[in-house]
Amino acid sequence: MSITLADARVVTPDGVHEGWLTIEDGRITHVGQGAAPGPGLDLAGRYVVPGFVDIHNHGGAGGSFPSGDLAQARTAADLHSRHGTTTLVASLVTASLDDLASAAAALAELCEDGLLAGIHFEGPYIAAARCGAHDPALLREPSPRELARLLRAGRGHVRMVTLAAELPGALDTVREAVAGGVIAALGHSDASYEQTIAGIDAGGSVATHLYNAMPPLHHRDPGPIAALLQDERVTVELINDGVHLHPAMTRLAFTTAGPARTALITDAMAAAGMGDGVYGLGPMSVNVIDGVARLAEGGAIAGSTLTMDVAFRRAVREVGLSMTEAAEISSLTPARVLGLDDRLGSITVGRQADLVVLSDDLEVSGVMRRGSWITEPR
Ligand SMILES: [Zn+2]
Repeated sequence: MSITLADARVVTPDGVHEGWLTIEDGRITHVGQGAAPGPGLDLAGRYVVPGFVDIHNHGGAGGSFPSGDLAQARTAADLHSRHGTTTLVASLVTASLDDLASAAAALAELCEDGLLAGIHFEGPYIAAARCGAHDPALLREPSPRELARLLRAGRGHVRMVTLAAELPGALDTVREAVAGGVIAALGHSDASYEQTIAGIDAGGSVATHLYNAMPPLHHRDPGPIAALLQDERVTVELINDGVHLHPAMTRLAFTTAGPARTALITDAMAAAGMGDGVYGLGPMSVNVIDGVARLAEGGAIAGSTLTMDVAFRRAVREVGLSMTEAAEISSLTPARVLGLDDRLGSITVGRQADLVVLSDDLEVSGVMRRGSWITEPR
């Protein structure tokens, strides 16, 4: 079956083209400028951007990935897909080893079904001083042997683990992760500049929500932020919701790291797509007031209620990026982090047809995943 999308503004890696594209058997087969050669679905000048790739997401629509409950996980994945996320990594939070292993074993089934692109362990190997919304009682010293057990529980679907580089055993655990084909992400960390560089030298290649849950930049004590931002080996995650970060700090990261090393994430939790109220984040209780999630006890920011379409729109409107730049940091760069950029993440002939149709004001009007509409543009 062939679908042609006509009269579109197509956001490709080399710019925005007024034209059309054709999809066959779930892939993009033609991208052209001007009038489409045959009949097609007329998008009346709307934008088509690549489907969003969210590499850090704890849930949505009341469903939570850390619960390990498949119905909840499906509910959350469905909410985010309707907001344009066509590739999604499910993030767990600090919990007991048994709970982490059983949640990973459960979610591995949804990875095998193709609904999820992988599993992310955020914790338990993180710093007590920077644990944010993680239960401090359940933090552990990094252990390569323990991590190997958790990776086995995930049956090859664990794609990322976040740990703090300064903890005893951290560097060996980073090496264990990388040797197992897992991305070592540095974050929730009190590390110095030098300790962070050691973590990168050991194989750390992602900064877990840069700026958040780490010491701030200081001109005499640059800390993790300067190390992670400037190192060509690292891609930095940013929670571009206007709550976690001032737009100027998002812009600073983007101009320093560039689009090829910047990845927008949601860090969403169960309340994304829902109203204010009381929610769980792993073992912790979270109050959501005016869309901002905070721990019931202590008030630390506890994930976000962000969806990737909002992160994208803010990148253009509040941060001042071009459509091409916003698409790169919402799709292609995170796809590259996952090693999937040769299959998806850009509007390029041969890539998977994961697409988001956006109106003039950058609201989602359609979402296609692997050539099938999740939401058909009206
Ligand atoms: Zn998180």
